[in-house]
Formats: sequence, structure tokens, C-alpha cells
Amino acid sequence: MRVLVVEDDALLGDAIQAGLRQQDFVADWVRDGVAADLALETATHAAVVLDLGLPRRSGLEVLARLRARKDCVPVLILTARDTVEDRIGGLDAGADDYLVKPFDMGELAARLRALVRRGAGSATSALEVGALVLDPATREVTWRGEAKALSRREFTLLHAFMAETGRVFTREQLEEKLYGWGEEIGSNALEVHLHHLRRKIFPGVVQTLRGVGYVMPKELP
Ligand code: CA
Repeated sequence: MRVLVVEDDALLGDAIQAGLRQQDFVADWVRDGVAADLALETATHAAVVLDLGLPRRSGLEVLARLRARKDCVPVLILTARDTVEDRIGGLDAGADDYLVKPFDMGELAARLRALVRRGAGSATSALEVGALVLDPATREVTWRGEAKALSRREFTLLHAFMAETGRVFTREQLEEKLYGWGEEIGSNALEVHLHHLRRKIFPGVVQTLRGVGYVMPKELP
């Protein structure tokens, strides 16, 4: 899933982006409050990791503007301030969760997954479509009880399809889920990932609707 990281500390921002990528997230990173505003107005992210102390516009102000736009994307606040008042302030301003620095990357990833899952109204983490099971928490995929080894992008792609079976995705919508800003997209990269998924799982797992897009059937055998 694709998340936006807002952090002005270069070392920490880089570490968060790299850590989230290792955990199969697509992570875009901006370093100040104005850039965060712009990104939140124009791009689609499943969740936001928001530092509070930011140049140009504070994290709380970014959050207030986001909620004023009726945007309910889940927001996790990262803060070096760990007083009760700060935490209450952040949650009252519309944050969904917070972590106090320094924090564990695995915990950040797990909390983001939980936020996105709650946003989708699902209490358990695993997705099931017929005999296909995908668990974002453990990153395991099984088909008819057999474990399947998928690459990061194959996993992300399969996750997107399983979260919305029957939905037709355009190429652009899928590429947006797969690639962060500045990541190069090969012209047939999407086709290659789909080819691998069909080979590893079964040919009908994702169907191509020529000239329209791609869809996972609502029911799989
Ligand atoms: Ca900061």
C-alpha cells in the first residue's frame, strides 16, 4: 500500500522510507508542511506518517487543513514530544494514532497496517478470496493451502486486487499503487508482474479487459 511520509529530518525520513519499503509499502516522502499539503491534495495515499515539528507549516496545521477538507485518510503522528498534552492535542486534531520517537520500524509498519485495515472496516488482517489467502501482517500468500513466494510488487498488486474484487483498475491506478514518486516504471512492467501472478497462482486470478483495465473476479475457484 502507498503511504506518505512527512518528516524534515533527512536521516530519519530516509530510514522510514527504506524501512517501509522493506515491509512492502510504497512510501513517498516530503520534508515540509507546505509540500505535505500539496501532496495530500493531489495524490492518493492509504495512510500518512506525520511529524509534528516541520518547516513552513506545522504538522498539526497540516492535519487541521486535511480534516477541514473532509479528508479522512488515516494519520499516524510521529513526535519527539511525549507529554500527555501533546498526544491529546494530536488526537483531538484528528490523528488516528501516534508513535513517540525513537520507535521501532516494525511497530510503525504494523500500526499503519492496522489503521488502513480499520479504515476499510475489517477487524482481521487476512484477505480471503476463494482458496486464495493473503495476510498483510505476515506477508504470506497461500493458494489452495500452498504457500506462494511473491516479490514485493507482485504482493502489492495482489493485495490491491483482493481488497476490491470485481473492481476494474486502469493501468494508471495500478501503477500508482506500485510506484512511488521518482521510481522508474518500465513500459511493460505491470504486464510482467501480472504474468508472474498468473503463473504462480493460476491464469484466471486477474483478468485483462482489453482497452479497459484489469480485474480480479469476485469469486475464485
Ligand atoms: Ca521534525
